[in-house]
Amino acid sequence: MLKWDFKSVKGGSFGKVTLGELSPEQVKSIGIYDCVLTAAMNSDVANPKFSKYFCKEGVSRWGAPVSKAGNIEYGFCQALHGEESVVGAFRASCDRNSGHETIVLGIIDEESGMPAAPCGNCRDIMLDDLGANLEIISGPSKGGLAVVTGFKDFLFDSFKDWAGFNEGADKRYSPGADKGAIFHFFNQVMQVTDMVKLGRRLENDPYSPKGLSPGRKYYALIATGKNKFYGAHHLMCDYHPVYAVERAVIKALDEQKDPFIKYAIILTENDSEDSGGFKPPHVMYRDRQHLYELNLYQELILKKEVDPPVYLVTCNNRPGQKVLGRVWRTSVKEWLPFPFSARHFGAEFIEFLTKHQEERQ
Ligand SMILES: [Zn+2]
Repeated sequence: MLKWDFKSVKGGSFGKVTLGELSPEQVKSIGIYDCVLTAAMNSDVANPKFSKYFCKEGVSRWGAPVSKAGNIEYGFCQALHGEESVVGAFRASCDRNSGHETIVLGIIDEESGMPAAPCGNCRDIMLDDLGANLEIISGPSKGGLAVVTGFKDFLFDSFKDWAGFNEGADKRYSPGADKGAIFHFFNQVMQVTDMVKLGRRLENDPYSPKGLSPGRKYYALIATGKNKFYGAHHLMCDYHPVYAVERAVIKALDEQKDPFIKYAIILTENDSEDSGGFKPPHVMYRDRQHLYELNLYQELILKKEVDPPVYLVTCNNRPGQKVLGRVWRTSVKEWLPFPFSARHFGAEFIEFLTKHQEERQ
């Protein structure tokens, strides 16, 4: 029988991670960690006809059967990801219970010693259906070091109020930030009014039920040195929407070929009824993933790291109230911890991708 040596993630970011001993609670779970990794190793669910990358996964919780899962590719480079397949497989064999269940997901990852890197869309489905207490175990098929990551380490929602809001400009640059990335609230009301006006025009949503997850309805603006790209959700009856940020990203890569993000703004009009204006928009991780990839293209062409700021804004549309509600500040990298990225495909692919993006300019 294979032996894995389990270590727990204590901190880190892309490409570097601090590992430590398991907590006493986690030590009690070693049996189930072994079970889900063994199931993942024996899984033959994957059918990756485009990528040829086999995601082998297993899932369970205490007292429940262990299910196998994997990625299934179809259409044109479209995929049911391993973690999406995990949700289906798990729910097919486990009843939904009180919601306090701790589910354990095992993923075979030959890159020993690193946390798994679920994509943004998979974070969305796992967050909504498996819950934030999920644990993700990644380990190589030959046994050895296996990494235990709490799903919460892949999430980020502790946004900070933007201190520059009342001062006219952002003074709190992170070291990697582009100096030109000042979000001037000089013309703040105009900017917000523009976003609301354009967002309403762009949004195509005859399908979402009113009042459910209002903070997930938002508009996006990606500002570069030369252009402003606006986006809003685009839904059709098949429930495979294009989200607001993704829509703006596509515009940036379309005719203008301008991935040089200075800053991004995400704005919701639906803040105040349920939260008193104190909650930022909930930007889906899938959307964060798309902005992250645009930022990667920017970095490959510029040949340096940049981490543009992202402003999360609520606005009021009730008469007699200030247009701007509240502003929070994060960044393209901060709000997507341990991201899935083309950088996982290795230096040779990154060289190819750089050339591809340069030729598209
Ligand atoms: Zn995924």
